[in-house]
Amino acid sequence: MTLYIVVPCYNEEAVLPETSRRLAEKLETLEKAGKISPASRVLFVDDGSKDRTWELISALHRRDPRFGGVKLSRNRGHQNALLAGLMTAKDCADAVISMDADLQDDVDAIDRMVDAFAQGFDIVYGVRSSRRTDTFFKRATAQGFYKFMKLMGVDIVYNHADFRLMSRRALEGLSDYEEVNLFLRGIVPLIGYPSTTVEYERAERFAGESKYPLKKMLAFAFDGITSFSVKPIRWVTAAGFLIFVASILALIYILVVKLLGFAVAGWSATTASIWLLGGLELLGLGVIGEYVGKIYTEVKSRPRYLIEAVELTPGVIQPRESGTEQ
Ligand code: UDP
Ligand code: MG
Repeated sequence: MTLYIVVPCYNEEAVLPETSRRLAEKLETLEKAGKISPASRVLFVDDGSKDRTWELISALHRRDPRFGGVKLSRNRGHQNALLAGLMTAKDCADAVISMDADLQDDVDAIDRMVDAFAQGFDIVYGVRSSRRTDTFFKRATAQGFYKFMKLMGVDIVYNHADFRLMSRRALEGLSDYEEVNLFLRGIVPLIGYPSTTVEYERAERFAGESKYPLKKMLAFAFDGITSFSVKPIRWVTAAGFLIFVASILALIYILVVKLLGFAVAGWSATTASIWLLGGLELLGLGVIGEYVGKIYTEVKSRPRYLIEAVELTPGVIQPRESGTEQ
């Protein structure tokens, strides 16, 4: 089988020489073991780097045909870079593995992924067995992120980032998800097909700095939630409803105070209207939001299903006899 390894790179000149060396080594051993064909490749995606990343990639390609490169017109972010690589690779490969350029993803887990593919799995998720090498802050935010996603009703694989193998048909399926707000970790489990996980120890970044500062991380988490869940909108509706109920209670209270003659002139009307209008407004916003949410999921036009197998022996369709037509 032909394997492609897709590696998104954003300003990764510091790690590329080592990454390419280790991946070439990996391809070689897998090829010698007869697990992959000589047509297998490493495909680097340059995500609009500002350093010498692209020069390094094209130099690698000139030196060794096992390296390929895709260059994006500008920085589009990790997820889009990854997709560009996957979609380029899918037409040439039987299976594609995506991994980070900084060698945090264990190169040796590739063997086990390829084995799982040979056993018939379409998607193999690389799952971190521990986060010992992460800083406390990174670990806490990452764990919080997975828990929060779960709470919001987004089904993602725990402790899995974007280190995974996908078969060609899984990638064909992925190409039918025409989302602009791309969140691969959420979409890949939706594709279905037989899948399994492979555990690996997450290493320290080999060189260079993280390209995911807190700001990007938060934007990524927010994107993940809003492109998979309408729960935030539901909460607005619920809050609106609760406040509306509370406003009715407030109204009764205001009436009682008024009837008992304790009210300052103008107080009842002002207070009642604030509560009532506030509640109604929020409720209205929530309901409108609900429809916007529906339009939103509709506009995405995700595929409604992907057919895995068909067991059907179609009968022979009888040609219509001439003369019996009316
Ligand atoms: N990356 C990318 N585009 C970006 C940011 C990051 O292609 O805008 C790549 C980066 O080169 C690396 C991978 O995404 O291969 C993961 O990034 P990084 O290691 O900086 O993230 P961290 O491991 O710190 O979460
Ligand atoms: Mg990293």
